[in-house]
Amino acid sequence: MTGETNPFESLQEQLGDAAAYIDLDDGLLRRLKNPERILETNLTVRMDDGRLETFRAYRSQFNGDRGPYKGGIRYHPDVNRAEVKALSGWMVYKTATVDIPYGGGKGGIVVDPSELSATELERLTRAFTKELRPFVGADKDIPAPDVNTGQREMNWIKNTYETLENTTEPGVVTGKSLDSGGSEGRVEATGRSTMLTAREAFDYLDRDIGDATVAVQGYGNAGAIAARMLAEETGATVVAVSDSSGAIHDPDGFDPADVREHKRDTGSVVGYEGTEELTNEELLTLDVDLLVPAALQNAIDADLAESVQADMIVEAANGPLTPDADDVLTERDVAVLPDILANAGGVTVSYFEWVQNRQRFGWTEARVNDELERVITDAFDGLTEAYETYDVPNFRTAAYIVALKRVIAAHAESGTWP
Ligand code: GLU
Repeated sequence: MTGETNPFESLQEQLGDAAAYIDLDDGLLRRLKNPERILETNLTVRMDDGRLETFRAYRSQFNGDRGPYKGGIRYHPDVNRAEVKALSGWMVYKTATVDIPYGGGKGGIVVDPSELSATELERLTRAFTKELRPFVGADKDIPAPDVNTGQREMNWIKNTYETLENTTEPGVVTGKSLDSGGSEGRVEATGRSTMLTAREAFDYLDRDIGDATVAVQGYGNAGAIAARMLAEETGATVVAVSDSSGAIHDPDGFDPADVREHKRDTGSVVGYEGTEELTNEELLTLDVDLLVPAALQNAIDADLAESVQADMIVEAANGPLTPDADDVLTERDVAVLPDILANAGGVTVSYFEWVQNRQRFGWTEARVNDELERVITDAFDGLTEAYETYDVPNFRTAAYIVALKRVIAAHAESGTWP
């Protein structure tokens, strides 16, 4: 990871690239490049040994022109203001690309959750929810899981909010467990959209995904499930995967579900039988047909992009390529399917969860997966149509054109007030 590229500047550059193709007022573009507001707070938490500890936390509400702010909450030691701003902006353009009725937001706490006990994490999550209470709500701002958070944290957020508000309101947060009002198919949704995007892209480019070899960087919820679905549902061969401890490779391929079991048992993908170890850089530059970055932002910079050998990159992570890397890959004719489409399954099934919560009526897994497939394939078609109509150099710019046009239309219809 380069660490040097400011992800907020990356977002602004991506927006600028797309804005050049559409008729857009400068003042409005400035609005669309900056968050509406950011909460920055210091949470005081009592640790198990009785000590008080403080943790910096953020929630950025980037844009609400198309609906309530929507986006995850991440727990990571590298969380910072610029990152949260960028991630919240990406949510705006993600929800618009797939045309679900939300704006975009994102939150984070500066913490290494592996250093906290479960009871400490619970108090930390409840402390954050207490701070978030005036800002969130099923019609205002709806948090969800992100890096290092999941059903357990979402259940705590729901319970804290409902207790403070003296009501039941499961739609205040998504990504909950099934018994707390979660949706079938939500856990798999991000990886499923990555698989669907790859499948559509291979088809669009007249390539057979069944013959493709795949490398996946990152083996959390997004990466592990994308790998499994690519193998199971498209017949692609997964030949390399990695996590923060290292990467593994077997040119003949392996069963991604089995690797996940190995990671569950041992804590890492490394050491899986029949594989040789690679460095992170070797994985990213492996000679495969499809590369899926599914870890953190800035995984591939311009230098590394020069050595990428994959023909296609499908972004399961948010912001894994720096803008300079994007330029290099465009120049080198590597097809990049952007995060705001390829990982949009998570927020799309969050939307379905919220709809089910509001209707107090649950859908079957088959219905969730069918509706998700429709949303992602429609969005893919919208993106390729813009790609051809505007004759843009890459799919990312096409996606931003589609998304920006939707946000601009909503803004124009609401008007500027006061
Ligand atoms: N954190 C996920 C994302 O980046 C999901 C957000 C959501 O479900 O609201 O898209």
